[in-house]
Amino acid sequence: MSGFDFFDYRNNELFCEQVKVKEIIEEVKTPTYIYSKNSILSHFAEIRDAFAEASPLICFSVKSNSNLSICRMLSDAGSGFDVVSGGELYRALKTGTGPDKIVFAGVGKTSEEITYALENNIFMFNVESQAELSNINRVANGLNKTARVALRINPDVDPNTHVKTTTGKKENKFGMDFVIAEQVIKNIANYKNIDLKGIHVHIGSPIYEPEPYVLVLEKVNEFLQKALDVKDKQKIEYINIGGGYCISYTGENVKRPSDFAAEIIPLVKKIGCKLIMEPGRFIVGNAGILVSKVIYTKTSTAGKKYIICDAAMNDLVRPSLYDAFHRTWPVNTEIPMPEVEIPGEGKDMGNGLEFVDIAGPVCESSDVLAKGRWFPGVKEGDLIAIFSTGAYGSTMSSNYNSRPRACEILVDGDNFSTLRKRETYEDLVVNEEEFLN
Ligand SMILES: *Cc1c(COP(=O)(O)O)cnc(C)c1O
Repeated sequence: MSGFDFFDYRNNELFCEQVKVKEIIEEVKTPTYIYSKNSILSHFAEIRDAFAEASPLICFSVKSNSNLSICRMLSDAGSGFDVVSGGELYRALKTGTGPDKIVFAGVGKTSEEITYALENNIFMFNVESQAELSNINRVANGLNKTARVALRINPDVDPNTHVKTTTGKKENKFGMDFVIAEQVIKNIANYKNIDLKGIHVHIGSPIYEPEPYVLVLEKVNEFLQKALDVKDKQKIEYINIGGGYCISYTGENVKRPSDFAAEIIPLVKKIGCKLIMEPGRFIVGNAGILVSKVIYTKTSTAGKKYIICDAAMNDLVRPSLYDAFHRTWPVNTEIPMPEVEIPGEGKDMGNGLEFVDIAGPVCESSDVLAKGRWFPGVKEGDLIAIFSTGAYGSTMSSNYNSRPRACEILVDGDNFSTLRKRETYEDLVVNEEEFLN
């Protein structure tokens, strides 16, 4: 199971590091997110080491997994943070990280969020429009501060990923095109409370090849060489290449940070800027699983078989939202999980597998977590693991259908501990009860 290091089957039983998944669930019930601490830290170290030659500032993308303890762990390991809202900034600051390691992106930063960020002296805003730059300038002026900014460029490069997770094509809402960026830079002296420090690009995710990054950096280099005079170019001290570094969802080998670094670093050197990176998924994606319990199984007259489990689209929305593929397998099973499973290409291996859809209890047809899978026979009460859910799992969860959010557990060696407790029914109504009359 190349992709899911730190989660493996021993004697037909799924472990996270040295702990049996079943043992955790006996204590905390389901649905539950389980993370491996050593997986998170080893991924952070891997990307840091791969890019060491460029000594980047690594800003963990908080939206991929915003759990406070996980952010604290990464901050202790030397990570900064990439935030996209005031709420994420609040979380990042709570970890005790230095504000000089926080960068703030997003197309719709409000004046309140800008004020909050300036008061806390964050490192940099990644600015996505002229209107936003004017507003940051105005707010900074009111606070008698100078705002450090990078211009987020929309380079019109296709990262060849899902249309809903592509962010750097000209039809996407993110960033400004090169023509506008050039105008902004030429007029930067008019923004008295702005200190232009860099260029930012984040073109989407997951990205499986270095080429889109290379294309982007070549375009940025050309822009800096051709469009800007020496004085303006000197201001551009940082190049922030965003996130998007892939993980394996299928068990196949995919490119690693060292493969990306080999192509990216020479261009960063050529551009002559310091490097900032914003990985999210790569660090936490394969460091987490969602564990659920089978509630019922049912088969239609036409032979369609469903496994209904107690996790749903409110716990993990990626399959419903992006048709995302997450490998899924029983926690305890005599049938080994195949090394690799390609979406739509599972096979009946004649060992008792059944062709199923695995669905949750939410009242939506799109609440299917795993569609069309060859899966071992399971019965009510059996546990199943949904892999690669450490990123954009818990953070995208909701209370839809008034379902309390799952708890989050961290495994470290042979210990496990709670990072977020399961919500209760009382939690669901806490902000409404006082208005009940
Ligand atoms: C979401 C996001 C990231 C992280 O993307 P990953 O695929 O998780 O690495 C980085 N930067 C920005 C601006 C983002 O919006």
